[in-house]
Amino acid sequence: MKKLIIIKYGELTTKHDNINFFIKTLKNNIEASLSSINHTITYDVGRMFIETDDFDEVINKLTNIFGIHEINTGYELETDDFESFSNELLNLVKEKEFTTFKVQTKRSNKKYPLNSMEISRKLGAILLRNIPNIKVDVNNPELLINVEIRLNKVYFYFDKIKGIGGYPLGVAGKGMLMLSGGIDSPVAGYLAMKRGVRLECVYFDSPPHTSENAKNKVLDLATVLANYSSYIKIHVIRFTDIQEAIYKNCPKEYMITIMRRMMYRIAENLAHKNNCKIIINGESIGQVASQTLTSMAVINETIKMPVIRPVACFDKLEIIELAKKIGTYDISIRPYEDCCTIFVPEHPVINPVAKLAKEYEESFDYETLINEAIKEHTIIKVPVINKEFSDIL
Ligand code: ATP
Ligand code: MG
Repeated sequence: MKKLIIIKYGELTTKHDNINFFIKTLKNNIEASLSSINHTITYDVGRMFIETDDFDEVINKLTNIFGIHEINTGYELETDDFESFSNELLNLVKEKEFTTFKVQTKRSNKKYPLNSMEISRKLGAILLRNIPNIKVDVNNPELLINVEIRLNKVYFYFDKIKGIGGYPLGVAGKGMLMLSGGIDSPVAGYLAMKRGVRLECVYFDSPPHTSENAKNKVLDLATVLANYSSYIKIHVIRFTDIQEAIYKNCPKEYMITIMRRMMYRIAENLAHKNNCKIIINGESIGQVASQTLTSMAVINETIKMPVIRPVACFDKLEIIELAKKIGTYDISIRPYEDCCTIFVPEHPVINPVAKLAKEYEESFDYETLINEAIKEHTIIKVPVINKEFSDIL
């Protein structure tokens, strides 16, 4: 009997047409995540199996991989002979402490002479006969015994660990996340990753108006997101000259509107250059003046690329709850100024007029400034990865 980890894909199994691509991507992502641990991966219909010496570490890594619905530690037997596997099951179950149990059987080998109900019933009877003081409880058993009959093989498992679900990272292509040091954008990035979107990030930095601490906060946030993705590339744009030009040339109440129009233009340019199909950001309807529907429309009209706003319809409290769950909240609330907070006017326009925004921004040569900022931008990868690891990615 072999001890192994059994992975269930869940939602993936509904994607009939490209299931192979989904599974292959999932396998590659698992390989990348387990690159430093001894392991082998095999598949069968709807399942992936991992053999390893380090169960705890592997399970720990698997709980951060999108596309995994459930993780089980189980046993594989190279036989589907009822007599043999019922004995093995009895030996395993005898070791456990419980008073109530239920046997649940799945039969992917439909030609097997007994059906699932019959197998469960017969196994249950054997356990009742051989282990004293136990009884069946179908609704709330202390021990749930899962049995899977596959071609010439049987699997048993008892404990279920919930995976994070979603689609394997990368199946949806790549997106450019506008990552600030706030609470919203890391959560937006996480939600996009969960739908299979691999992330690159862009951060607008305004030294000396913003500190190195503000930038490090963003890198730390990206590092947390990289727990779900092996590594993340961050494009750091020096936004200072653009911000100062806006400050000097445009009415104060339009500063944020125009600043964000510039950010969108740069994000779109970087997205195109890096093969990203969409821009992702943490805008949430009505949260601040630049996120009224009118503001969003006036800001969005500067670019053609779709902008996905995963938290657009979330309450701040819902976003905070998710931020805590994924581990970004404590970093996001570090008190460093970001480029928007420093230049924020007292009364930003709530319903900007597109024609005016355009007129104001054309009072200076923003295209040259944008091109320079893009030309000089720096790229940081988090976390720092070693050669062996990068070969797999
Ligand atoms: P908070 O959680 O405090 O709202 P925020 O990052 O969401 O912080 P907003 O002013 O609401 O800040 O900005 C809306 C969105 O614009 C952000 O979620 C982020 O996607 C993007 N953004 C804002 N500032 C920057 C920045 N300096 N670099 C990259 N993206 C930014
Ligand atoms: Mg916000």
